[in-house]
Amino acid sequence: MSKRLFGTNGVRGVVNEEMSVQLALDVGKAIGTFMGGKVAIATDTRTSAHMIKNAVSAGLMASGVEVLDLGMLPTPALQYYVKGSAVKGGVMITASHNPPEFNGIKCVDYDGTEMPRNKEEMIEAIYFNQSFAHKSWRMVGSMRPITGVGQTYITVVKRQVDYTAIEDAKLKVVLDCANGAGSATSPQLLESLGVKAITLNANPQGTFPGHESEPTPENLRDLVEMVKVTGADLGIAHDGDADRCIFVDDKGNYLYGDRSLAIVARYVVAEKGGGTVVTPVSTSSCLEDVVRSAGGDVIYTKVGSPVVARKMIEVKAIFGGEENGGLIFPEHQYCRDAAMTMAKVLEIIAKDGPLSRLAASIPGYALDKRKMHTPPGVKDQVVEELLMRFDGMRVDTTDGIKVYFDEGWALIRPSGTEPIFRIYSEARSDQAAKRIGDECEKALKEAVKECEGD
Ligand code: MG
Repeated sequence: MSKRLFGTNGVRGVVNEEMSVQLALDVGKAIGTFMGGKVAIATDTRTSAHMIKNAVSAGLMASGVEVLDLGMLPTPALQYYVKGSAVKGGVMITASHNPPEFNGIKCVDYDGTEMPRNKEEMIEAIYFNQSFAHKSWRMVGSMRPITGVGQTYITVVKRQVDYTAIEDAKLKVVLDCANGAGSATSPQLLESLGVKAITLNANPQGTFPGHESEPTPENLRDLVEMVKVTGADLGIAHDGDADRCIFVDDKGNYLYGDRSLAIVARYVVAEKGGGTVVTPVSTSSCLEDVVRSAGGDVIYTKVGSPVVARKMIEVKAIFGGEENGGLIFPEHQYCRDAAMTMAKVLEIIAKDGPLSRLAASIPGYALDKRKMHTPPGVKDQVVEELLMRFDGMRVDTTDGIKVYFDEGWALIRPSGTEPIFRIYSEARSDQAAKRIGDECEKALKEAVKECEGD
């Protein structure tokens, strides 16, 4: 299928422009036609939350669906509800970390996982063919509110960790909810874990007055400052729909997501005495280093959390995640979960000591990132050409091309949405990462030239 509706993270756009009421209504009809039965719906805190939710719900009801409205919640709280209820699926109204003028529609499968691509394609086919199930007036759906889902989610997450150890450690944290959906559950979870929490931007507000909701170092300056000023044990930040979680250590250092991913992976593997960890090919080698030394092994997948989650199910992995702070704990559920990540990291700190020391024990790698514009329509050809150029070297083609050099590795990957290739190079030193980046950029330029010449 050439036409796509769902991107990597659902349907997204600027509200009342691409993300219009009409689009939301038709997407709702398509989802309703596909799912049928009962469908749960929730939103993050965006100003357009009600507008988009009601349009999608109208579409769902027009196709005969009984809509269960869970209100404002983190995406993983909706997913947990869907997993444990007799619903055919869920719909989350969120644009995750995008600026406040955006909103989006994301589907959840009946088991609480993110909708796999093949099912999204079926919904897309219904949408593009306009083959909606138009129900007669007797058969249209209804809508009713469901309360208490956030509270259940908090209780469930608490039970997944050693909450006595957390309570005994008497930790002090600063929590930044980015005015997003985490405001509905994370402050309460901290309270129930006996943690003293100072909150920032923990009022749900769809204009995101605190900062934009991607947990980057620039957006978390206040959090870093507050951790230092209050002498807190750590800082915690969520993205807009609270599926991702990023940390600041006790010294006020922002920890990139690969560090926290490695800290948790090492702990989980040691705790379980081995096992498999799943992560995309783009993840830093620091993860594999610590997992291997703890007695576990790593399986790499294409980039994207749904792929990671499905692979985890397939290989019975004990843990998985992405380096953007999206961590997946299979005993809880097969999706990224910020509250669960937060609770687990609190347990690790309570048992194994300060976050700065834990982070210092993770091997450090330098990263070189660049991108190059390529003419449209030559991506596959360029990849073939590159493979010939790297002939004889260790190459992994799980997603784009990952090439291993003596000093490190590079991932050369075409973007799914733009006419560009991205090159990520990782090595022990900045100079080595740059050398690898230079070499790959040169190879990519030559490959593009070759394809243009055809
Ligand atoms: Mg998110």
